Amino acid sequence: MLTKLRHSRPAGLARYHLYRDILLARPRRVACNICGWRGRHFLTYLHKHVLCPQCGSQLRHRLLVAALDLPAIASRIRLDGTVLHLSPEYCLGLVFGRRARQYVRADWAAAACDLRQDATRMALGAGVADVLVSCDMLEHIPDDRRALAEFHRVLRPGGTAILTVPQSDSADATLEDASIDTPEARAREYGQPDHARNYGADFGDRVRDAGFDVSVVGASAFEPAVVTRHVLRPPVALRAAWGWNNRRVYFAERR
Ligand SMILES: [Zn+2]
Repeated sequence: MLTKLRHSRPAGLARYHLYRDILLARPRRVACNICGWRGRHFLTYLHKHVLCPQCGSQLRHRLLVAALDLPAIASRIRLDGTVLHLSPEYCLGLVFGRRARQYVRADWAAAACDLRQDATRMALGAGVADVLVSCDMLEHIPDDRRALAEFHRVLRPGGTAILTVPQSDSADATLEDASIDTPEARAREYGQPDHARNYGADFGDRVRDAGFDVSVVGASAFEPAVVTRHVLRPPVALRAAWGWNNRRVYFAERR
């Protein structure tokens, strides 16, 4: 939606800036911890008031970036090394691109990337990356365990994969059923027509099975005022059975 707004006709663009920079600007209740935009509320995208009108960050991106500053995370992650960003989001590029010695964007289809590749068969040597970033991508991949094995292979020992996936708020176990095989059924059961499953609280186990040590960070790791200011939890929860309100960031360290 943001891209569409940005690249629309000049009149549309002027309207958009009027909305973002004047009408939404005050009072400054919320702030994007990625681009610094401040205003009355974020835009609505799936959830009400979660999308930054300036950099396009969503809740998971701001939660991820907030988590990078937690001492327990910051002390173990080499953001100044080689960072491989899969399905790269513009907003996270602002953070990783600035801090990495080498920042590589990889995607199987997008034009704005440095490497064209399939996450389950990466054309990269073993142990080349210090950090790998994959936000809300694994739920699209039929063989996500194969992708996790690839993440493990391309990271150096001690390297970190930063992972997010849409997860049910209430389910312990991931819902994944071969008979749910049409776009309609997938949208109904998994929340989107192009999702291969809906993860539960057991996502971390799947990551551990691939040979990682896992630390999980959710909104509860932060003061309530920080959660509200940066919108690290949806202001209005979705009631759909598949959930996705309480996001978590998985820091998976290669042993
Ligand atoms: Zn922003």
